Amino acid sequence: MNDWKNFVDQNGDFQLANFLYKNINDLMKHALDMGTLLSNDQHKLRAYKEQTKKLFKNKWFDIARCLEHFEVIDKCICFSDQREVYCEICKGARYKISNYLSADEVRDVSLFVGAMQDAEVQEKLQKGLMKLLDDLS
Ligand SMILES: [Zn+2]
Repeated sequence: MNDWKNFVDQNGDFQLANFLYKNINDLMKHALDMGTLLSNDQHKLRAYKEQTKKLFKNKWFDIARCLEHFEVIDKCICFSDQREVYCEICKGARYKISNYLSADEVRDVSLFVGAMQDAEVQEKLQKGLMKLLDDLS
C-alpha cells in the first residue's frame, strides 16, 4: 500500500516524484513477477526482465519530463550521476518536488494571503499605504 500521505520528507514536503515513481516501480515489479509464471527459460526470462525494466524506466522519465516542464517537479542533484547509486533525497526517482511548491514557499504564500485576516497586520499595511499616499501627494 502506497498511501500518498506517507510520502512526506523531513521538511514536510510532499514527495510527488517519489510517490509516482514508487507506484510505477511497484507495477513494474508485479509485471516482472508475472514474467516468471510464463517461462522457465532463464535466457528468455532475463531478456523479458531487462526489457520490462527499461520500458517502465522510460515511462517514468516521460511522465517526469512533463511534470518538470510544468514546474511541478525538479531534477534531483543525483540526476546526472551515471552510477546507479541509491539517492536518499529522491529515493531513486531522480526528481523531487519543485522548490516553489515546497512547504516553505507555500507557507510564505499562505502568510501573505492570510495577512488580510489578521487585524494587526491589516492595520500596519493600511498605515503603510496611507503614508505612501501622503508621500506621493
Ligand atoms: Zn536524488
